[in-house]
Amino acid sequence: MKLTIGHLYPELLNLYGDRGNIQCLMKRCQWRGIEAETIAFEMGDIIDFSKLDIVLLGGGSDREQMIVCEKLKEIQKDFKAYVEDNGVVIAICGGYQLLGSYYKTEQGMIEGLSLVDMYTEQEEGRLISNIVLQSDLFEMPVVGFENHGGRTCINDNKPLGKVLYGKGNDGRTGYEGVVYKNVIGTYLHGPLLPKNPQLADWLILKALQRKYGEQTALTELDDSQEKEANDYIFHRFTQNR
Ligand code: GLN
Repeated sequence: MKLTIGHLYPELLNLYGDRGNIQCLMKRCQWRGIEAETIAFEMGDIIDFSKLDIVLLGGGSDREQMIVCEKLKEIQKDFKAYVEDNGVVIAICGGYQLLGSYYKTEQGMIEGLSLVDMYTEQEEGRLISNIVLQSDLFEMPVVGFENHGGRTCINDNKPLGKVLYGKGNDGRTGYEGVVYKNVIGTYLHGPLLPKNPQLADWLILKALQRKYGEQTALTELDDSQEKEANDYIFHRFTQNR
């Protein structure tokens, strides 16, 4: 079995080292004997979505998002078809905002990809915090760090999780991220996947099942260290405050 990961515009959308998330996906495949390759696309490259199994859209500053949004118009139709065909996507922070129809900032309007029915508007003050979520998709809590000026409204879509600690999509609803088909969008940036191996495996499994059939399963890996760290963070932020 083989998976191809598409890393979109890493020179611009790589605010918190999203390459680490790619490394994590690659390693977890390779440890299981699944071949994995990553193709990094720069602005202007032609993207053949039919060759991709997982797409990563990373974080970026407002300025970088503004530059990228011009290019997104060119790939919108193909990207949308990929998503509707159950293509797997992980979109982080600035990339998460770009999944929606728009991101309104003080400097102007950034048009999004309109892949998911959602939108983002900037408000005064940034939402900066450690964050812990409880998600239906995983047994372990999802842990991370958030830092965003935008507030995201996901309309009737399913959130990634309920906020146990931190701010989430807008600091009001108590929910964080979005799940639409095989797309996950989240504000948890930096080492999202190394910290949350269950999320990495969800992406890998969905991609394998789409390519090789529903019966495909993943062999277990030893995640005892990650579980121990996750458990510590969960208790530190939700129990012993
Ligand atoms: N520029 C966006 C914001 O501030 C996203 C930042 C990020 O990727 N952390 O809301």
